Amino acid sequence: MSKTYHICRVLRLISRRKRPRTTAILLAGGVGSRMQSAGETKQLMQVCGLPLIVHAALAFEQCPYIDDIVVVARREELKTVYDLMEQHGIRKCRRVVPGGETRQLSAIAGFEAIDGEKTKFVAIHDAARCLITPGQIADVVAAAYAERAAAAACRVFDTVKRANAAGYVTETVDREALWLAQTPQVFDATLYRAAAYTAMQAKFVATDDMMLCERIGQTVKLIDCGTDNFKVTTPGDLLRAAAVLQGRRKDGQA
Ligand code: C5P
Repeated sequence: MSKTYHICRVLRLISRRKRPRTTAILLAGGVGSRMQSAGETKQLMQVCGLPLIVHAALAFEQCPYIDDIVVVARREELKTVYDLMEQHGIRKCRRVVPGGETRQLSAIAGFEAIDGEKTKFVAIHDAARCLITPGQIADVVAAAYAERAAAAACRVFDTVKRANAAGYVTETVDREALWLAQTPQVFDATLYRAAAYTAMQAKFVATDDMMLCERIGQTVKLIDCGTDNFKVTTPGDLLRAAAVLQGRRKDGQA
């Protein structure tokens, strides 16, 4: 299904005022140990004058297909994060709640904090992917409205090898069918509830939310969001993110 098809479909849904209520769950409950920074956690580090979490929250604030935002933060940072949301005019932010030991538990904590009566779709996003754009969020949400589950991703351009524990190549993997998973990952809320809680009961460990749906046989539509929607992980990624943002500002896109 083309991008244009999805955008047209969403515009029709909006014009009919029938769009399902959609809540973003912004995950910022990690420490960011690979960032090797003393003290400051990754989500509070700045790129072009704003913390990563603020860049991500602004994209959801500006996306017309998002109604509410729940932020999941480290317990020690709850007040700092809440104040940042206020300072930067994130008016859709309803709650800032403490995360769990793992990303999977933080996503559950965020899901438990949504308005379960009203919310029909959830868009789960890593705050560390601070370069997501309102347009990309809209594309993924639109696909989820049509398919129940959709996620941002990008194609793999490098040749991919499988290797043994000693680092010797055992196989070249066909890259034609390979994608790198990104966020946001957007789900029908009823589907996500079933997927997340049955996985928890089964002690199934997932590094992203799509895995929970795959486990119960739900197909997930991938939407190509390009390589700029990377997860800021290492100190070099901060420089790369700054370069992308400066480029967008020069082109008048940000
Ligand atoms: O650790 P990783 O970079 O994979 O984390 C992805 C996202 O999940 C980050 O935005 C991080 O803040 C969040 N996270 C979380 N709770 C955890 C671990 C990670 O909200 N316990």
